[in-house]
Formats: sequence, structure tokens, C-alpha cells
Amino acid sequence: MSITDNIKAFKTEIESVNVRLVAVSKTKPIEDLMEAYKAGQRIFGENQVQELADKYEQLPKDIEWHLIGHLQTNKVKYIAPFISLIHSVDSLKLLTEINKQAEKNNRVIDCLLQVYIADEETKYGLGFDEVIELLESQEFTELKNIRIVGVMGIATNTENQKQINDEFYELRTLFEGLKIAYFKNEPSFKEISMGMSADYKIAIEQGSTLVRIGSDIFGERVIKHFKNQEEE
Ligand SMILES: *Cc1c(COP(=O)(O)O)cnc(C)c1O
Repeated sequence: MSITDNIKAFKTEIESVNVRLVAVSKTKPIEDLMEAYKAGQRIFGENQVQELADKYEQLPKDIEWHLIGHLQTNKVKYIAPFISLIHSVDSLKLLTEINKQAEKNNRVIDCLLQVYIADEETKYGLGFDEVIELLESQEFTELKNIRIVGVMGIATNTENQKQINDEFYELRTLFEGLKIAYFKNEPSFKEISMGMSADYKIAIEQGSTLVRIGSDIFGERVIKHFKNQEEE
């Protein structure tokens, strides 16, 4: 199927259950993004700041850009003027820098807290206790130019459907607990970003509001080897 067909099929499947589609276009050329755009797609997700900023420059300005990959504090300034949602906030230090750059741009930047749910050593994210610690901290309450609108998680890369289901369930349970404890009067705290090409159906069953789909839309990616590019 073409990118156009894939976008249309996903939109039909996902929007009928009130889930939004983030088209993950990392490593893909502008023409592919443009095809998705012409099929009606308006939310695109990228995992590298430079690539995201380049694509932002070249594409229509009514696109909502989401950063889904690890963000280094020294790169926040490149996306602060226009980014719609940062899915990958995993420290108070990073959040403080996003707040600072948002203030410079006279805006409020929406963020998700990336929570560690997978059974893998290498993934970024906050532990459940670290999420609480961040939200309870005095520094956090002083940040006026960021808004936490939900949580994000990546399940273990496994064939074990039950394990994936349990990990998404944990994330949703955390979301619900946070909502009651910290965001009761904030209707904007409503997003659970979970689900990729391999596991989005399970994620939707478990209450995902934003699925991040790459290869099922644009085809397989050629794996590039960046040596520690995203390490601080
Ligand atoms: C690449 C990526 C995706 C999309 O993965 P696919 O398996 O191609 O759908 C989703 N989320 C994150 C954080 C990613 O880095």
C-alpha cells in the first residue's frame, strides 16, 4: 500500500476510537512527509532535533511537530519556537531548560513525562518514583512556561503480547493516579502516548490517546549508525 493508503487506513481505524495519529517520519525524505500531508496527516513525530528543524523549515506551517526521541538540554533552543509537543521529558533539568527557552519565545510548551515501563536496560525514561519526586519538587511548581499534558512510554520489544499489555496497563494506571493526585483540575492533562507499529492495537485497548506509527505508514527504515549522537 502507498503512504496515502496507509494514512487513510490508520485515520479511519484510529480516529473512530478518538485516538490521534503521530506519523513518525524519522529518516524519511520530505517527499514522503508531503505525501502523508496531502492525505490529510498533520501530526509528525521525529526523534532528532536537527532533522526535525530541517523538515519544519521545508514543510507547510500548519503541521504539528512532535519530538519523540531523547532530547539534550543544549538542543532545546532549536525547537522551542515551534514545537507542539515534547514526548520525551525525562528529567527536571531538561524540563527547566524547556521552560527557559519557552519563556524566551513567549510561549508555553506542552510536554509529556517519559516513563520507563520496559524490561530493557537501555531505554530512557523516569521511574514511577522519579515522576512523583519531580511533580512534588519546589522547582517544578515554579515552571510557568511548560505544561505537562500526560505521559509517554515504550513497551518492551517482544513477541510476548501479555507482557506488552501489562506494561501499557501500568502506564495507564500511573496516568490515572497522577491525574487524581496532581492534575485533578487540569483537563489538559489527558494524553497517554503509547503504541508503535508493532503494538498499537494493544496500546489502544489499554487507553492510548496518541499512537506513534512509523514503519506501518512509511515502510521499513534503513538503520543508520550514529556514534553516540544522542548522548550527552
Ligand atoms: C521510531 C519510533 C516510533 C515508531 O516506530 P515504528 O515501529 O516504526 O512504528 C515510535 N516511538 C518512538 C519513540 C520511536 O523512536
